[in-house]
Amino acid sequence: MSDIETLKKELPPFEIFDLIPQYAAAGQIDPEKIDLLKWAGVYPQRPQEDGFLMMRVKVPTAELSAATLRVVAGIAEDYGRGLLDVTDRQAFQFHWLRIQDIPDILNRLETVGLHTRGACGDTVRAVIASPLAGLDARERIDVRPLAAAMEGSLSGNKEFEDLPRKFKISITATPELEGIHHINDIGFLAHEVNGEVGFDVWVGGGLGAVAHLAQRLGVFIRPDQVIEVGRAITGAYRDHGYRQNRKKSRLKYLIKDLGPARFREIVETDYLGYKLPDGPAAPVARFGGSDVLGVNPQRDGLNYVVLSTTVGRINPAKARALADLAERYGKGVLRTTAFQNMMIPHVQTEEVDALVAELALLDLAPKATLRGTTIACTGTQFCRLALTETKARVAGMIDELEPKHADLDVPFVINLTGCSNACTRYQVADLGFMGAQRIRKDESGAEIAEEVYNVHLAGSIGQAERLGAKLKGIVPATRLTEYTDKVISDFKAHKSAGESFVE
Ligand code: SF4
Repeated sequence: MSDIETLKKELPPFEIFDLIPQYAAAGQIDPEKIDLLKWAGVYPQRPQEDGFLMMRVKVPTAELSAATLRVVAGIAEDYGRGLLDVTDRQAFQFHWLRIQDIPDILNRLETVGLHTRGACGDTVRAVIASPLAGLDARERIDVRPLAAAMEGSLSGNKEFEDLPRKFKISITATPELEGIHHINDIGFLAHEVNGEVGFDVWVGGGLGAVAHLAQRLGVFIRPDQVIEVGRAITGAYRDHGYRQNRKKSRLKYLIKDLGPARFREIVETDYLGYKLPDGPAAPVARFGGSDVLGVNPQRDGLNYVVLSTTVGRINPAKARALADLAERYGKGVLRTTAFQNMMIPHVQTEEVDALVAELALLDLAPKATLRGTTIACTGTQFCRLALTETKARVAGMIDELEPKHADLDVPFVINLTGCSNACTRYQVADLGFMGAQRIRKDESGAEIAEEVYNVHLAGSIGQAERLGAKLKGIVPATRLTEYTDKVISDFKAHKSAGESFVE
């Protein structure tokens, strides 16, 4: 058994919450228990010896009020040196925290209904809920109540606190596929068969160093079965998932070995106690694969405006300004997307231009080009596993390339990570960069480590449903912008109007 498996047996992971006040009072974390802090959404940032922590905060149903966003901004300002990231699981991330700060931060979050239970660790992570829920005319069902119930039933639940590895669930409402079901352990995808709205269930998606796209379980379930089926699948993974080798512990490996049909049998027989109806023969029609960008009509005549952050990074001043704008132009609510962006819904058509102009002043204008379609992970700035810088480098690249390629007529998705772990999914982008290092000799003959990127081309969880092709060469970090520019320029020179990179 790995160390973490032993640790989980010694202390039920969610009991770490009971120890946090003690660690905070002492200003010190028991080094033997430090890995369990992940279950509270907290873990050491790089360099670990400096003692600073990062924290991930779930946003259940992906919707929050302006007042809640102001509380989040206050935490980032008071404790996080003004840094605030929107993650690609619709969560927020703080940095530069000390253990002494954690109790007050948790209290502040609780006052506005946010929490960190299971934001990291071997348990049910943030449930991705369609950010278009309740808004979009193409929506088949408003999935917010289901996402809230899923979060309430599985997340932070002691029954699921000791899974073999992390476990990701998404619930998607429209054929835009904004819930990225292909790369979740369970993806519930709403669609309609013979006039009946239900969910096609996908299992075993996950990226990391070895990427697997989810496969259909072969069932079609009613909305009122979603939580029960989610619990059954999670239970089957808890009991049957592999625990010896953490690199082979995700559900994707179990699905690969058993196949979806046998896994379905186990779920039905041992966990549900009844058979599920078979799913439709063909999966739902696909679009998208990137964020639903820009200004979009709601079914009630209002509009939702998806604003583009730069690789998810905002700050307290921008967050407060967004809260003000949501109150002034919308109904005082905002949403987070699974692409490090945010949304202000419920905007009157005649007010859209004014809102967009205000967002532009904040450098958060809705962009269908590079800023809105590029995501990057934490990287060497804070991540202990990182091999390369990520966010700052990509931000510089966007600043340089965006004006030049503002004429792109389709979204061009760039996902970049600082190592092979794929937190920002380099395998499913038009242009995916995976951070690595190579050793080379400098002019004096001394060996130096150089940051480089492996390149993955034309992956898609939208139209094409395929992993990107890994190229043989590597791109030195110093030439990242130049390389990206060439790929986009070449694409523009050879494409027909409206043709996507994947096509
Ligand atoms: Fe860290 Fe690697 Fe994940 Fe990036 S992909 S956040 S570098 S573990």
